[in-house]
Amino acid sequence: MKVLITGGAGFIGSNFVNYMVKKYPNYQIINLDALTYAGNLENVKEVENEPNYRFVKGDITNRELVESLFAEGVDAVVNFAAESHVDRSITDPGVFVRTNIQGTQVLLDAAKKYGVKKYIQISTDEVYGTLGETGYFTETTPLAPNSPYSASKAGADLLVRAYHETYELPVNITRCSNNYGPYHFPEKLIPLMIINALNDQPLPVYGDGLNVRDWLHVEDHCSAIDLVLHKGRNGEVYNIGGNNERTNIEVVKAILRYLNKPESLITFVEDRLGHDRRYAIDATKIRKELGWKPKYTFEEGLKKTIDWYLENRSWWENILSGEYKEYYERQYGQK
Ligand code: NAD
Repeated sequence: MKVLITGGAGFIGSNFVNYMVKKYPNYQIINLDALTYAGNLENVKEVENEPNYRFVKGDITNRELVESLFAEGVDAVVNFAAESHVDRSITDPGVFVRTNIQGTQVLLDAAKKYGVKKYIQISTDEVYGTLGETGYFTETTPLAPNSPYSASKAGADLLVRAYHETYELPVNITRCSNNYGPYHFPEKLIPLMIINALNDQPLPVYGDGLNVRDWLHVEDHCSAIDLVLHKGRNGEVYNIGGNNERTNIEVVKAILRYLNKPESLITFVEDRLGHDRRYAIDATKIRKELGWKPKYTFEEGLKKTIDWYLENRSWWENILSGEYKEYYERQYGQK
C-alpha cells in the first residue's frame, strides 16, 4: 500500500509519519509538506533513512505537483496539511482559505482522477463551534465554526462530504479534540507553558483561564487514524477524543506543579477574539464501531510530554531563536 501523508512535517502529521513508517515496513509512505513556519524536518528525523519513507517538499495547492504524485499510484491519502493556529487565522484569514479549503479541493480532485481507495480528511472538533457547561459534540452536531480557522476546516469538510455524495469518493473525516505530545510547535498552549515555565518567563493565559479543552495524546490520535484508514466505513465521520476535559488554568497549574515552578508566573492576558468556551467530544462511535481505545490518561500523557520537552531542549530552542520570536513578541507584547 502506498500512503500519501500531507503536512507530515507538522506536529500531528510527523507523529503519524513516524508511527506509520515503523508500524508498516511494507507500506510506502510519502510525506508531502510545504515546510511553512510550522513544518520541521527534525520532527521526522527518526525515519528519514528508512527505505519505505520519502519526503517531497511542496504545496498541496500545486495541482501539477499533486497530480504527479498521484500518477505514481497512491492507494490512500491522509490530509493533515493545514494552517492550524486560531490566533494566526484572526490576523490573516486568507492563507487559511487557500491551504485548508483550496488545498483540500486539489487533493480531492487528484484522488478522484486517480481512483484512490481511501481519502482521510483530518478535521477538528472546532468545526462544531462551542458548548455550554454541559453536552458533547457527536458526529451529527451541526457545524457552527466561530474562527476563520475552524470555518476553513468546516469548508473543507463539506467539500469532502460532497465528493463522497457526488462522485462516491471513498472518504472519511475525523474530528479530533486538542492534541498534545512531542514535536508540538511552541505557539500552542501546552508547549508554550512548558517552555515559558522552564525559562522562568510569564505564562500568558487568555481571559479568566476557564475555557475548557478536551485533551488527547497525539499517539492516541495516530492509533485512531490507523483504524479509520484500515476499517473506516466510507463516507463516515468519526469523532476522536479521550474524555479529558480540563480548564486552561488547570492545565497550566499541572505543568507548574510538575516542574516545581511557582504559580506567580501565571499572567492573565486579554482574551482571544471569539474564544470558544468549551469543547468536549463524544467518541462513542469510533470506540464501538472500530474498537478504538486511548492508551494514556491525561496525567500520564502530560508528564511524558513535559519529560520530552526537558530531554529535547535543542529542538525547541532552535524554533525559539527563529522567526517565531517575532511572532511571540507581536502576540504577547513581551520578549
Ligand atoms: P501544524 O501546524 O503543526 O502542521 C501543519 C503542517 O502542514 C506543517 O508541517 C506545514 O508545513 C504543512 N502545510 C501548511 N500549509 C501547507 C500547504 N499549503 N501545503 C503543504 N503543506 C502545508 O498542525 P497540526 O497541529 O499538526 O495539525 C494537523 C492537522 O490536524 C490540521 O489539519 C489540523 O486542523 C488538525 N487538527 C489539529 C489538532 C491539534 O490539536 N493540533 C486537533 C484536531 C485536528
